[in-house]
Formats: sequence, C-alpha cells, structure tokens
Amino acid sequence: THFGFDEVPENEKQTRVNEVFSSVADSYDLMNDIMSFGIHRIWKDHFIRIVRPDPQWNYIDVAGGTGDIAFRYLKELDRYYPSAASSIPLSESPITPTHTYIADSLEQTRIRPTSKCVVADINPNMLAVGKQRSIDNNLHNRIQWIETNAEELPFEDEQFDVYTIAFGIRNCTHIDRVVSEAYRVLKKGGRFLCLEFSQVNNTLLRYFYDQYSKTFIPPMGQIIANDWKSYQYLIESIRVFPKQKEFAELIRSCNFRYVNYENLSFGVSAIHSGYKL
Ligand code: SAM
Repeated sequence: THFGFDEVPENEKQTRVNEVFSSVADSYDLMNDIMSFGIHRIWKDHFIRIVRPDPQWNYIDVAGGTGDIAFRYLKELDRYYPSAASSIPLSESPITPTHTYIADSLEQTRIRPTSKCVVADINPNMLAVGKQRSIDNNLHNRIQWIETNAEELPFEDEQFDVYTIAFGIRNCTHIDRVVSEAYRVLKKGGRFLCLEFSQVNNTLLRYFYDQYSKTFIPPMGQIIANDWKSYQYLIESIRVFPKQKEFAELIRSCNFRYVNYENLSFGVSAIHSGYKL
C-alpha cells in the first residue's frame, strides 16, 4: 500500500499534496502531538530560539499551515519585548503582495509596523484553521495570511529580514525553486531557516525509527483522522527528502552563505540555515 509519491508525475505532485493537507487540516494539530509524542513542540520552540525574533523585522513563515511557527515567533517576541507588544500602534499598511492569489481582503489585515509577520501557504484549509487559531489566541491582527505557492512568492525582491519554513519544503515539487525564492525575497543580510525531517544518524536508532514510522503512523492516521493514505504519504515524503549534507549543498548552490545545520533528536529533524550576503 504505497502512496506512490515517487511515481506521481511531477505536475500532479502538488495536487496530491494539496489533497493530503486539505484532508488532514482539521486534525493536523492533534495528529502532530500524537505522532511525535509532543516532541514537535520542543523542536519548534528550539527553532524559534534560533530565529531570535526582533521587533524591527519583517518576518515570513512559508508553508506556515495552521500557524504553529508564526504564533511561537510572536509569543517569543512579546516575551523579550513586552513593551513593544502593548505600546506600538497598529499600522494600516501591511506588505503589499505584487500579484493575485491572495486569500484575504488586505484591508482587514492590520500589522504592527515594527514586526510584520506574514504566513504563506498554498492550502486554504490549513490557512483557515490557522486564522481561527489566531483569533482564539488573540493574534489575528498581527498576522497577514497569504495563499500562495512557495515556489513563486507574490512579493517584490528583498522584503524580509527572516524567512522560515518548517516541515513544509519536502512537500514542494521543486525545492531548489523554493530556496531561490527565499533568497529573492530576503533582504541582504537576511536569514533563511528551515526545520525539516531529516536522516537519523545512528543505525540502530534509524532501524527503530523506520519500524515505528511504518507500523504506527498510517494506522494512527486511519484511526484518528480516518485517513491512512495521507499519513502513508507523510512517511514517504520524509524518506525521499535530501539528507542533511545534500540539502545544505542545495542551499549553498542557491547563493546562501554561512550555510549550517543542526540535528534535533539524532537527526529525526534538522535545522538548516543560511544568510543572504
Ligand atoms: N509549518 C507548519 C507546521 O510546522 O506545523 C505546517 C507544516 S505542514 C506539514 C506542511 C504545509 O506545507 C501544509 O500546510 C501545506 O499546505 C504546505 N505546502 C505544501 N506545498 C506547498 C507549496 N508548494 N507552497 C506553500 N505551501 C505548501
């Protein structure tokens, strides 16, 4: 029962991926907790500490889905700059996308001038869940939600100080285009940070991890979300994604400098980063 991700023609991949995330959107957050035993929260918290939010930055989180990374970014910002959170007035002028596929009426979006925060994702169902969560967390007037493909971002060059993408890039058809787009929209001196599943570096652990993935994840997907196939896709997409060094090389080939990576949980995930200089 392969999802057959490798065999899907290139032009159909994104459609299949969109079906997966449309199907899992409502149960996405719960499933993350169950399948990673809550560890994804630790990885994401760590990721945001590496990002080190700054109140002056324009920030974009791509493949941001239900908002996990952006919410953490804003909360960390408020922790370090509590006065900024309460005193800075709302701006009437969010970053204006250059072309069309925008989910929301931008007039409704009001962003603080010193910490513009954009969440971009291709899937309207994931964004809808994210928007609702932002309302529940009282963060809705600080995030601009944009429906777009990471391979072709609707922004002018050099708009952002930091670009993050978490557990998103392996779902894209051309990861080199995603990284090149990141490079294009970043300002000089800006930083690219990617959190993604990677390769476990210890042979024994890798064996157990593979067994766990194969036997536990699709059945859990079936039981909780009534969706075996999407979770079969999940493990296959992890398997075919480039390993740490190979991905670092790809980031370098897109002109990023000081490219580095850090393994989390023995390489189950890794954080890659690079600067546009
Ligand atoms: N970043 C979130 C997190 O860490 O919880 C969501 C990660 S979720 C596993 C992957 C997300 O990538 C989905 O929301 C999906 O819609 C999005 N995605 C897939 N292909 C994309 C593309 N080509 N451009 C933008 N987003 C994409």
